[in-house]
Amino acid sequence: MLTKSKKYTFTFVTIKLFTFVIANLNHKMTTKEYLTFKQKKISGRYITLKNIKPLINNLPEIFKVIELGKSFLGQSIYKIKIGTGKKRILIWSQMHGNETTGTKAIFDLCNYLNSKEGQSTILKACTIVIVPMLNPDGAMKFTRVNAQDIDLNRDAVALKAPESKLLHDLLYNFKPNYCFNLHDQRPIFSVGKANNPATISFLAPSVNEARDLTDGRKETMRIIVAMYLSLKKHIPNQIGRYTDEFYPKATGDNFQKAGFNTILIEAGHYKGDYFREKTRKYNFLALLSGVNAIYSSNNFDYTSYFNIPNNETNYYDTIYKNVCLNGQKKVIGVFLKPIFKNNSVKFIPNIKILENTTTYNADNTEYKEFNFSSIDKLNTFLQNAHKK
Ligand SMILES: [Zn+2]
Repeated sequence: MLTKSKKYTFTFVTIKLFTFVIANLNHKMTTKEYLTFKQKKISGRYITLKNIKPLINNLPEIFKVIELGKSFLGQSIYKIKIGTGKKRILIWSQMHGNETTGTKAIFDLCNYLNSKEGQSTILKACTIVIVPMLNPDGAMKFTRVNAQDIDLNRDAVALKAPESKLLHDLLYNFKPNYCFNLHDQRPIFSVGKANNPATISFLAPSVNEARDLTDGRKETMRIIVAMYLSLKKHIPNQIGRYTDEFYPKATGDNFQKAGFNTILIEAGHYKGDYFREKTRKYNFLALLSGVNAIYSSNNFDYTSYFNIPNNETNYYDTIYKNVCLNGQKKVIGVFLKPIFKNNSVKFIPNIKILENTTTYNADNTEYKEFNFSSIDKLNTFLQNAHKK
């Protein structure tokens, strides 16, 4: 039990804060604890400005909210600022309008920051700026691109979209030590040879084609290692590393190149979780452990970043083991693609004929024998079997 003393010395407080940070980094949050922070007013795959506006308006006073600017179609893009500490952290989500898991995780994080733990640790050590939906026009239409058909994540140099310009100007005004760039990846992404779904993937973006390990990239990798170790306690074989091929027009690559360490988090599939409510929790935990690692003095070894398995594309919703197509035995992989229809997200099956040499994994495996005289007949069968 802790004994309370009224006369805290500065050193004692510092030691206490440091101990708390270590405890935070080692703590495995239970589902019950997580549920106390989960923002239950938003869920599912389709999240628009209309859904998050009431949450932004109801944030407690410690969150300073301003309208950062407008989207191409004139929707508000908000900036939320919280904390008074030295470490400056910039977080944005939904630069791809149909990638909403990060937005849900951000509002869970806001609840954590507002808690006693959040206020006594993170908010003393960090100043955090959040843009919870950079592409509200894309969010409305459930598209990756903005209303001008521009992929904001390939517009970091040209800055043709007003949304890209807003993020760019915010970056240079705020000058963060670290950025978190939040995305969603398709359910087909798997982790290394084990082929479990890549529920969370990380990337420390390259700054050039040679993928040089600059000091900034090493710093980014260190934070990712901390996040990986923390998340490993929850989903040990479901964390991947995204390709670090240099994309000259991409946001993360250009921010990292400009000296602002940028961590990419890709939220992916968890078995059976098509609405990404389980993944959301791991996205939140990843963010929380990343922020904790940024202000703690733990010196994580950046080289461990390379031990995180690479992403592959070998995960399916269902694998049909015994399909006879035109008299030939085939293994069929079905993956589900989200589409926007009648104002909601539906999932349609896509088919891949798998090679015998490929290893794969799936939510479901079907061993029953099926016989189809044409690929069209197989397609019709699968479209009916996988209506979700
Ligand atoms: Zn994306």
